[in-house]
Amino acid sequence: MGSGKTPILAVDDERMNLRLLQGMLKPFGLEFLSAQSGLEALSIAKSRDLALILLDVMMPGMDGFQVAEALRGDPVTRHIPIIFVTAINKEQKHVFRGYELGAVDYLFKPVEAEVLCGKVRVFVELHRQRQALEEASRQLLRSVEELRVSKAALEESELRYRTVADYNHDWESWIGPDGRALYVSPSCERISGYPPGVFQEDPEFLHTIVTPDDRDTIRRFLGDSRAETLDFRIRNRDGEQRWLNVVRREIPGRENGGSLGWRLSMRDITARKEAELQLRHLALHDPLTGLANRTLLLDRTSLALERLKRGRKNMAGLVFLDLDRFKVVNDSLGHARGDLLLVEVARRIQACVRGVDLVARFGGDEFILLLEELESPREAIHVAKRVRDAMRKPFVIDGHEITTSASLGLVLAVDGDVGAEELIRHANIAMYKAKESGKNRFHVFNERMLEQAVAALRLENDLRRAIRRGEFHLAFQPIVSLGDGRLGGFETLLRWNHPRRGAVSPADFIPVAEETGMIIELGQWVLDQACGVMRRWQQANSHAGNLSLAVNVSARQFAKSGLADDVLRAVGVSGLAPESLKLEITETAIMDNPRNSVQKLHRLRQDGIRFSIDDFGTGYSSLGYLQKFPLDDLKIDLSFVRVMESSAENLEIVRTIIGLAHNLGLSVVAEGIESAAQRNILAELGCEYGQGYLFSRAVPEAEAEAWVRSGERFSEAGRPRTGNA
Ligand code: C2E
Ligand code: MG
Ligand code: MG
Repeated sequence: MGSGKTPILAVDDERMNLRLLQGMLKPFGLEFLSAQSGLEALSIAKSRDLALILLDVMMPGMDGFQVAEALRGDPVTRHIPIIFVTAINKEQKHVFRGYELGAVDYLFKPVEAEVLCGKVRVFVELHRQRQALEEASRQLLRSVEELRVSKAALEESELRYRTVADYNHDWESWIGPDGRALYVSPSCERISGYPPGVFQEDPEFLHTIVTPDDRDTIRRFLGDSRAETLDFRIRNRDGEQRWLNVVRREIPGRENGGSLGWRLSMRDITARKEAELQLRHLALHDPLTGLANRTLLLDRTSLALERLKRGRKNMAGLVFLDLDRFKVVNDSLGHARGDLLLVEVARRIQACVRGVDLVARFGGDEFILLLEELESPREAIHVAKRVRDAMRKPFVIDGHEITTSASLGLVLAVDGDVGAEELIRHANIAMYKAKESGKNRFHVFNERMLEQAVAALRLENDLRRAIRRGEFHLAFQPIVSLGDGRLGGFETLLRWNHPRRGAVSPADFIPVAEETGMIIELGQWVLDQACGVMRRWQQANSHAGNLSLAVNVSARQFAKSGLADDVLRAVGVSGLAPESLKLEITETAIMDNPRNSVQKLHRLRQDGIRFSIDDFGTGYSSLGYLQKFPLDDLKIDLSFVRVMESSAENLEIVRTIIGLAHNLGLSVVAEGIESAAQRNILAELGCEYGQGYLFSRAVPEAEAEAWVRSGERFSEAGRPRTGNA
């Protein structure tokens, strides 16, 4: 506004009088305003916050009283103190009039400086006080307003926060520095079943509903100011377990350093946890049987070995179990029932083990038992026996009674020096030994088995190379008519000339080739070669047209879907008459999938191919099916021939087989005839053909061809006799 000095107004039509007043008031340091007319005075009074008006009464136009009246009539100016300055000497009438109009005092001309100053001082002081008061009240008003505004804002923000907190899905708590809950959101009731008040009244209440397993963890979490988040479990009011995730944040105070406590946000994560647990379970368990899977087994085995390493005196064991005839069950009863059988097998195994043991499904019909904390090997053997016996009892699946058995391999770990996978491999090797030695039994792993397994592995590697390097060739063993010693044909036998080991027996490498699937490639090679050889012999020797060449077909090769095409292609490419080829198939290979076999055999038979059933008597076959197969010969396994003379019963067996073959319309070939006596007995029993060292071992191609060419007969002594057509 002005200079900060207190403004006063002097009104007088005489300039001289104004100057006088101004001069007298100078020492006050006032802002001296002056007006020479009533109107001018009113306008100044309206616009300024005057401390005082010194008002001359006698003025032309508007006199002092009129001015006073106007001032009092206006709310802006009505409070301004007025001192009339008048020359009319103390006339009562004037004086009263002036007081009526709100004058506060009178000064009479000539004004004395001392009197003027005394009066003015009072009003200036009053004005200052009023101004201070006004300022104070303005300030007050401002603060009140500010307060009002900020209170509203606070209310609104609290409302907003509460709305958020109250309706938040999460269970929100504000825990004060003393550990008491200052606020708990209503969501806690949805999650825990208890209302917020319960948690606010008793800070310990939360701990009582935490599951016992997690109580220590949650206490540690709440006690550690650095911990931010934790998953834990509670039991809700209904006794159900819920998983909660808590996130903790400090609520900082306004002044730096202080803390208002903690905000805990708890979220119900039960659904997620359950999904996680289920996922974990799925990842570690077999969906069919619910048993542990490979991953879990490996994990637990490693842990068990770790424990052994740390010097516990107990031992651990693994039992590898493989069902003996699962494939047959699967093929004959269907996969759904096969699955049911596996579930039942799993249940039975589980019933044989203790709580500490783990049962895992390792593969199709393979199960592994991890036995821990064994006091002695006997305990493990006990479990293995129990499991074996449990498998022997017939299973009833879907109304079908199924009899099966299992082969088991057991390995023990004493010091934890082996790895988990190695241990499983050892158990597997022992299981194979059990299978090899007749199934339905168990074998305990030993180092010798390992050596054999390693040798087999090496053989497998060598075998892979052998095909590429052409280390194979064919040998031919004559098949002779027992009646007249005439050559009926040859059996093709595969020979392997190993670069280091020399001749390796097919009895050693054929099973390996079979197991690894290499037999498919190898078998095809034999077939192509054999057809080619026979074709050349026949072309070179006109009388060789009715000789047959037998080629062995392994089980896996026979099971292969394109076998018929492969055989016919080999025959077609070589130009051989299909009737000259005879495929030797074992009973076991045919019976593996009898329905399929019937089709396959008929298809090839239509094209002229002939069949022998090889190693008869060593596998199992159904007579019903044998009838359905389009077979030509039955080959009596050499094991029967070898013991034929030792007892009447053994001889009877051979006689029965021959009789059976004849009833089925088949010719009989006896394998492994080493003596003339054997040959004579067989000839007498009506066996048509024979094969064996008595006549010849398998010989190289050139030697075999020499016989073809000469048309020699095989004499009593077993040696081919020349001449004699
Ligand atoms: P197999 O088909 O039963 O063949 C007869 C086996 O008996 C041959 O053994 C033969 O040398 C042997 N043998 C013949 N006469 C006598 C005898 O008087 N006394 C004795 N002790 N043994 C005799 P080899 O050649 O060792 O073959 C063994 C087995 O290997 C064969 O049994 C056959 O199952 C398999 N095999 C051989 N070559 C092939 C082939 O090319 N493919 C397939 N898949 N398997 C083959
Ligand atoms: Mg054979
Ligand atoms: Mg045989």
